[in-house]
Amino acid sequence: MTLHADYDPDNIFAKILRGDMPSVKVFEDDIALAFMDVFPQSDGHTLVIPKQVQARNFLDMPSEALGAYMDRVQNVARAVEKALQPDGLVVTQFNGAPAGQTVFHLHFHIIPRWESRSLAGHASGQMAEIGYLEEIANKIRPFAE
Ligand code: AMP
Repeated sequence: MTLHADYDPDNIFAKILRGDMPSVKVFEDDIALAFMDVFPQSDGHTLVIPKQVQARNFLDMPSEALGAYMDRVQNVARAVEKALQPDGLVVTQFNGAPAGQTVFHLHFHIIPRWESRSLAGHASGQMAEIGYLEEIANKIRPFAE
């Protein structure tokens, strides 16, 4: 059911795209926007969302728009890796609430992993301080341009 509902233009990420809600951006062009997750599962947890499409999830994404978007996802993943030098990097996305999706505008998570550090819960816990997110975003931005 939730996999095929109508796109809600008032979802949080649509509001961020319209500038109706703030975000800590690391990359933006006409294809995609990347910003820091406010409930980071690890330092540097970044989200990459497509622009100019109303896709709730990966299945909805028009195939002709996919290549350019995935290019941005890879670009931001590489920037996160260069900036933070983690031991590993999770690149993932969820489709539908039963799969763990909580915001219904397509997005890929880029989650750095370090061997000695555990992962925080998904979309839960305390919201990160904006200053802390800005500090990490400042490191990633130069590599994402
Ligand atoms: P998902 O559960 O896969 O749909 O991922 C949604 C992600 O968005 C979660 O990791 C949340 O922590 C994150 N999130 C929710 N609201 C915001 C927001 N206003 N700015 C940045 N990230 C957010």
